[in-house]
Amino acid sequence: MVRIGSHVSFSDKGLLNAANEAVSYGSGTFMIYTGAPQNTRRKPIENQYIEEGKAVMEQHGIGEIIVHAPYIINLGSYKDDTYELAVRFLQEEIRRTDYLGVKQIVLHPGAYTDKDAEYGLARIAQGLNEVLSGVKDTNVNIALETMAGKGTEMGRSFEELATIIEKVEDNGKLTVCLDTCHVSDAGYDIVNDLDGVLEQFDRTVGLDRIAVVHLNDSKNPKGASKDRHAPVGAGWIGFQAMHNVVHHEKLKHLPFILETPWIGKEDSSQRPMYEAEIALLGGTVKTRFGDGFLSDVERLAHFFTKQDIDPRAYVLQTWEVLKTDAKAKKADGREPMERLYDLIVADSLFPELNEEQINHRLTAWFAGEHLFATV
Ligand SMILES: [Zn+2]
Repeated sequence: MVRIGSHVSFSDKGLLNAANEAVSYGSGTFMIYTGAPQNTRRKPIENQYIEEGKAVMEQHGIGEIIVHAPYIINLGSYKDDTYELAVRFLQEEIRRTDYLGVKQIVLHPGAYTDKDAEYGLARIAQGLNEVLSGVKDTNVNIALETMAGKGTEMGRSFEELATIIEKVEDNGKLTVCLDTCHVSDAGYDIVNDLDGVLEQFDRTVGLDRIAVVHLNDSKNPKGASKDRHAPVGAGWIGFQAMHNVVHHEKLKHLPFILETPWIGKEDSSQRPMYEAEIALLGGTVKTRFGDGFLSDVERLAHFFTKQDIDPRAYVLQTWEVLKTDAKAKKADGREPMERLYDLIVADSLFPELNEEQINHRLTAWFAGEHLFATV
């Protein structure tokens, strides 16, 4: 059975909070930030309900989980204060991760800002050497994330990751987090040639380095260098390609983490699609949601077929218009899921369902025949 989970909140009651949230989505794993990703304020890790959280995890068969390092860490910075803060804070984060008994901390390698790529790679490697030399007594690996190539961020190609790894002395402590949105945005064709991309990764970095996969669809086409996540099936990668990733022979043993956006017309009504995404990708829709859900999705499929709306074509056309036609975007900036949701509501197709429930069914509709093939 594949292990899929999502980013969950570590606030309030820490690990207990995170584990309960993960369980509510039917997760087999999950990922946390040990505190706000944009600042360095941290509560003592000892007071984060760790025993209570672990009890919940054990009860629900959740073993391995992942920590994500905060974004403010930039080991690629030429500014001494930024760089030194990054080294020190990453070491503290690694100690917190180790205390939790977690083996992987995901790190955005860093950005070179006003310097150049060569400088950035060397600086990141220097930073990783410093970080690792100070935490030799821990059991934590740093999982370098594959990046989209937005701005001056490094790790946008497999070669850049390989270069960093080569330059790090204790590189047995370095692993990789493969992010589907980022690699697609960086130009790798995981939709049509997943095998080829993985072979390329294997030749350059080595597949055995991959320790975790971030499962995100993308609001942008391959090679866009943007890094904007979409819900599974609601982006350019699409459900089929995401399903191929999860069930690929070379990847299926790994923990898969969703960082997909929450969906809702108002900020206050936004809800995650994680529960549906996990069940759809893991093939547990029927047990998780029941027969009524499946017949709702069939009704939905019928409703859209009548209007000649195909999920994949509709999603791609909408993103294309939003990207290329500024006037049309100004007149109607709604993203694909919101437009489809509005069509459903305008026709009162499911008057008894709330917004989240309708959006779960929309997510399932994106999965198309898969949904019915796996139940
Ligand atoms: Zn990340």
